[in-house]
Amino acid sequence: MSSLLIKNIGEFFTGDIDRPQAAVTSLLIDGAVIAALDPPPETRADAVLDAGGSAVLPGLVDGHVHPVFGEWTPTQDTIGWIGNYLHGGTTTFISACELHVPGLDYENLTPDLVTSLAVVTAATTGRVRWSGARVHAGTVILVPGMTEAHFDRLAEAKSILAKFIFFPLAARRDEALRYTQWCRARGIRTKVHTGGVSRSGLSQICGYDVLSWLQPDVAAHVSGGPIPMSDGDLDRVIDDTAFALEICSSGNDRSTHRAVNRLRAKGQLKRLTLGTDTPGGTGVIPRGMLRNICAIASVCGVPPAQAIAVATGNTARAHGLDVGILAPGRPADLVVCGPVEGSAGSSIADAIAHGDLPGIAYVVAGGAIVVSGRSRQTPPPRHTLMFSCCGGHAGGFAAT
Ligand SMILES: [Zn+2]
Repeated sequence: MSSLLIKNIGEFFTGDIDRPQAAVTSLLIDGAVIAALDPPPETRADAVLDAGGSAVLPGLVDGHVHPVFGEWTPTQDTIGWIGNYLHGGTTTFISACELHVPGLDYENLTPDLVTSLAVVTAATTGRVRWSGARVHAGTVILVPGMTEAHFDRLAEAKSILAKFIFFPLAARRDEALRYTQWCRARGIRTKVHTGGVSRSGLSQICGYDVLSWLQPDVAAHVSGGPIPMSDGDLDRVIDDTAFALEICSSGNDRSTHRAVNRLRAKGQLKRLTLGTDTPGGTGVIPRGMLRNICAIASVCGVPPAQAIAVATGNTARAHGLDVGILAPGRPADLVVCGPVEGSAGSSIADAIAHGDLPGIAYVVAGGAIVVSGRSRQTPPPRHTLMFSCCGGHAGGFAAT
């Protein structure tokens, strides 16, 4: 398919937290990118989707996943997890390191081993669009003893992120700061595990004291993954630093409430990013990103359109990606959805404000329709949508 026109859009969410909703009623996709918002009425396209008044929002960006190889995750003995998440609206996945490879010995990680693991994962899991989704894999597990040449290899493999999780930050501060510099010189961002020890039992504990000098690009799961830092540390991280702060499904709900409320009250929602921190001990959660949006909107008081922007444009921007924003020239990754029959919500914004799951009908990733007519992970939306192509009659707009 080379062009797709979506018309009769009832609600349009841009993914841009500064202006998260717009009065856009149609959108033209040409190839893998968005060609126009509200194109002229005589616009012709290879296919037309009549959204029937339902909502369009950017494909969700899961800022924290742990892939292993392709769609297989050994942590919960599951295959096909990426396709299942895609049916929950997630079109982009960002690896927070590939530490779940069976047999990996966390106590004997060497610079060559961690670099090679990232390079191999980037060249395999990161190379292919699994079920149509994009996985940014090849996130290195930083360990002591790495040289600049290791970071050259990571840059060559097109890694976008490096992770401090097992690295002894307090004991090797200068080395950690050197790594951060080497990453930034190569366009690689840094993320650090925060809070208490993870499922591995070997990750480093990290709170305000470390974050204040490390200054990562993104502090991972600040409300816990699974164990959060103290309330006092969380407040100081919000008040006295400026980097991106991630909330994950793996966290502590009470700390999530505290963090998001404080960011909202201080007008700093632009720093907030979302992820699931799955697959892992928290499980495999295909609707995880939708649940995150509903949680921060319905329980923490984030306006629904801004909650969507946090899960899309904010999370993409914090990781240096151009997805998550619906504007001409941006990647054509989007979700067409509506309130579910029986939901308290009169619109998607209203449903999310109530904490109700949206019903997904279509997902487009990289310009291709990857979920068509019905998600296998959500109930259907109450709207009636109509798809026509290959000479089908679309009315108003014409399908060639
Ligand atoms: Zn994680």
